[in-house]
Amino acid sequence: MILAELKTGQKAVIVRVHGHGSFRKRLIEMGFIQGKEVKVVLNAPLKDPIEYEIIGYKVSLRREEARQIEVVTEEEAREALITDEHLQGLPEDLEERERLDKALAHVAEERGHVIRVALVGNPNCGKTSLFNIASGSHEHVGNYSGVTVDAKEGHFEHGGYKITLVDLPGTYSLSAYSPEELYVRKNLIEAMPDVVINVVDASNIERNLYLTTQLIDMNLRIVMALNMYDELQHKGDKLDIKQLGYLLGIPICPTVSRDGQGIKELFDTVIKIYEQSDPKLARHIHINHGKELETSIRALQRPIGYNRDIKSKYSTRYLAIKYLETDKDIEAVLSKLPNYSDIANERADEAERIQGLLGTNPESAIVDAKYAFIQGALAETYHQYQAERPRRTLTDRIDAIVTNRWVAFPIFIVLLWFIFWATFTIGQYPMDWIEWLVGKLGDGVGALMPDGWVKDLVVDGIIAGVGSVLVFLPNIMILYFFISIMEDSGYMARAAFIVDKLMHRIGLHGKSFIPMVMGFGCNVPAIMATRSIESRKSRLVTLAIIPFMSCAGRLPIFVLFAGAFFPGSPATALLGIYLLGVVLAIISALILGRFIKDDDLPFVMELPPYRMPTGKAIWRHTWEKGKQYLEKMATTILIFSVAIWFLGYFPRHTGESAAYQQEHSFIGTIGKAVEPAMEPLGFNWKMDVGLLAGVGAKELVISTMGVVYAQDGKAYEEGDDTQLQAALKATVPTAAALAYMVFVLLYFPCIATFVAIKNETGKWRWALLLCLYTMLVAWIMAFAAYRIGRLVWPV
Ligand code: GDP
Ligand code: MG
Repeated sequence: MILAELKTGQKAVIVRVHGHGSFRKRLIEMGFIQGKEVKVVLNAPLKDPIEYEIIGYKVSLRREEARQIEVVTEEEAREALITDEHLQGLPEDLEERERLDKALAHVAEERGHVIRVALVGNPNCGKTSLFNIASGSHEHVGNYSGVTVDAKEGHFEHGGYKITLVDLPGTYSLSAYSPEELYVRKNLIEAMPDVVINVVDASNIERNLYLTTQLIDMNLRIVMALNMYDELQHKGDKLDIKQLGYLLGIPICPTVSRDGQGIKELFDTVIKIYEQSDPKLARHIHINHGKELETSIRALQRPIGYNRDIKSKYSTRYLAIKYLETDKDIEAVLSKLPNYSDIANERADEAERIQGLLGTNPESAIVDAKYAFIQGALAETYHQYQAERPRRTLTDRIDAIVTNRWVAFPIFIVLLWFIFWATFTIGQYPMDWIEWLVGKLGDGVGALMPDGWVKDLVVDGIIAGVGSVLVFLPNIMILYFFISIMEDSGYMARAAFIVDKLMHRIGLHGKSFIPMVMGFGCNVPAIMATRSIESRKSRLVTLAIIPFMSCAGRLPIFVLFAGAFFPGSPATALLGIYLLGVVLAIISALILGRFIKDDDLPFVMELPPYRMPTGKAIWRHTWEKGKQYLEKMATTILIFSVAIWFLGYFPRHTGESAAYQQEHSFIGTIGKAVEPAMEPLGFNWKMDVGLLAGVGAKELVISTMGVVYAQDGKAYEEGDDTQLQAALKATVPTAAALAYMVFVLLYFPCIATFVAIKNETGKWRWALLLCLYTMLVAWIMAFAAYRIGRLVWPV
């Protein structure tokens, strides 16, 4: 009996819940579990929803939803009391009610022990052989496609369960093109098997997995029979079955259905999946179709999701994907919905957007994305014995080079180097123009305004502050221009793939690598780039360690100090500092990784085919990042810049030198106040003031120290050194200089980075925590550097 058919006041016991994963999960969470009693509070024939009472709660279900729940009614139980021999043996002295309850429980249990299993797979992968050997039938087996034209049912017992096995026609996909495909799809949705066995031909795994990805979209309970496993072994190929199963979220059982190997384990697994006894065995993954398609899928899921009735049968994600693919059958299903015109409009918009960005229609883009996913999963788990297999496509041939064991890294490094070079050399021109413009604007405004703090605020605070935001814009846009080309062409996926194993060792993801490397240029775009990392954990950890990547803004400080204090080997000192940053980043990743909860995101590195990027897509990505930088960060950075200016400007000491003003400003006062805290590191208050100014931007450390040091007016021996270098050498011990370099490398990144972290995580809390963490690490490491330095350079 079906729950929807019960009348008001009737009681029943739940046998099972049908439907796809997320729907079933929701009902189970509501209490619709096998063996639980449910009562109809109100079921009026034309009224929807129906009201039920379960485990003491009232819940209402749509009629469509209640149709997915199988129950045993009291009438059925009464009948079983007469016919079922198990129930004949009930003790005579039981009350009528108790007898009935026992009968209900028994029938529910018995019916729950029937599992409907469907075999789905490509033609000729061995489904019928599997069907025959498992069910003892003698269906016709043939080594050509099209032998099975409709569903055959077989019955057998396994592990205390009655299993109904259905052999479906072979299909390469679940599109609505051929009658077989439509038939299989209808069967999966209407006949609602409890578990689907996806039979995969192990000797032709790549093509077979395409159907698997579509089954995954449907969010069914799946077990994979990796059939013809004998052939895979015979060829000498290697497949990491466990890892592939993990990547797909499906348990995989190797089978040889010609002689029955692995069939027992296969059905043991089917039972485990049906009972959901092992949560580690399966998980529902979302195959990543790439940024743009995923946006479209979500956009379609929204209006589709308003219709609760449809959600019981179909996963909205599946509907959205199929509808984007212009699947006629799904279109017919959706066209009955009241808000169909919204859904249709949404699809038209999205199709146009995808066409414009990717230069292809959603349908083929989805196919490509699925193959990219399969390529990525197989590249990680599958090794064909024949190393010299013919390179068929252009993608294969390019891949043979760029993912080659020996040249992959050099190519990658050269490309990155080129991108950085271009970013900073080409970026220098617009940067200079912007600086020049901002300078002119400051002069112009300065000339118009009367002297006083208002003028200084406008010129040195606001205009200079805006300037400090704007100068980075060209860098960010140029960097993103190249990144977009790398992403859209498909190269980025390879880059992430080749470093993936390496990154896994520190608990990160291949996709974390690019942002980390970008951090050497500027932490801000690097942090903005972490958005492409799907896993929350990897993203947060990556965000947290990027500040340890020494950005270009810190370079002048290191150059100045290394030149002054380590004249014999400035390059070694510089390299050492950079390495220290990397090492601490790795250690931090390992530590922080323990504190952030794991998430079950797909770990597959998709490997899409290479494609010529379209100008429109590149421009859009580039501009989007530029806009994001301006919109989200400009205001906050501006406020902080003005605040720093304020601290350096007040209280006023008119008539005194600039250096005197700095010393007696709030910043100078704070610098002196924190001196005791920094003394163990060997810093004097002038160095501390430099650090405080560096909170605004690391570029300010040098210029601020220059101003403060100019104060005593002494002329130091200069030689090859600059005035500031000479002054530092005369007043700062070498060990303290080393500690200072370490501190500058590690402490609070800069306001722009801070704001970027807040924006990407959406929480000030994260940004503040990171602030504290970097300060702590900086202090400890600088202290260590100072102490060790003192041993090497006693003065
Ligand atoms: P279906 O089209 O998926 O129903 O596939 P069939 O069951 O008709 O099998 C196709 C061919 O593959 C037949 O010749 C089978 O004998 C053969 N076959 C099935 N399973 C295996 C297996 O595990 N190993 C090998 N080597 N051959 C198999
Ligand atoms: Mg067959």
